[in-house]
Amino acid sequence: MHEMSIAAAVVEQVDTAAREHGAPAVARVRLRVGELAGVVPEALDFCFELACTGTLVEGAALDTEPVAARARCAPCGVEWAVGMPPDLACPDCRRGSGVELLSGRELQILDVQWAGPSGAPAEQKG
Ligand SMILES: [Zn+2]
Repeated sequence: MHEMSIAAAVVEQVDTAAREHGAPAVARVRLRVGELAGVVPEALDFCFELACTGTLVEGAALDTEPVAARARCAPCGVEWAVGMPPDLACPDCRRGSGVELLSGRELQILDVQWAGPSGAPAEQKG
């Protein structure tokens, strides 16, 4: 499953970061997910819970922040929302050449909130 490998990668990164920071646990992980990343948020939630079992990330909340897909036609200078399924033809000249994707493929960790030893959220570090 696509989401499982993503969740595993996120958990691994956060777990490694938590060890480097000496954080005992993780309270919250914020993830930026582009519309075209092909991720189902519910599936990602489920896989995240599975993937973090036995790591420092276990019990952390996962916040996904959706990013709308937008494209731009270089010759026309027009920008539009690509939508789903993606429409990558310029609404002006109806051509696909010179079209660049501005956003929508994001799949990155925005920030992580470490949990204090008592389980209370500790000071946040970017
Ligand atoms: Zn165009």
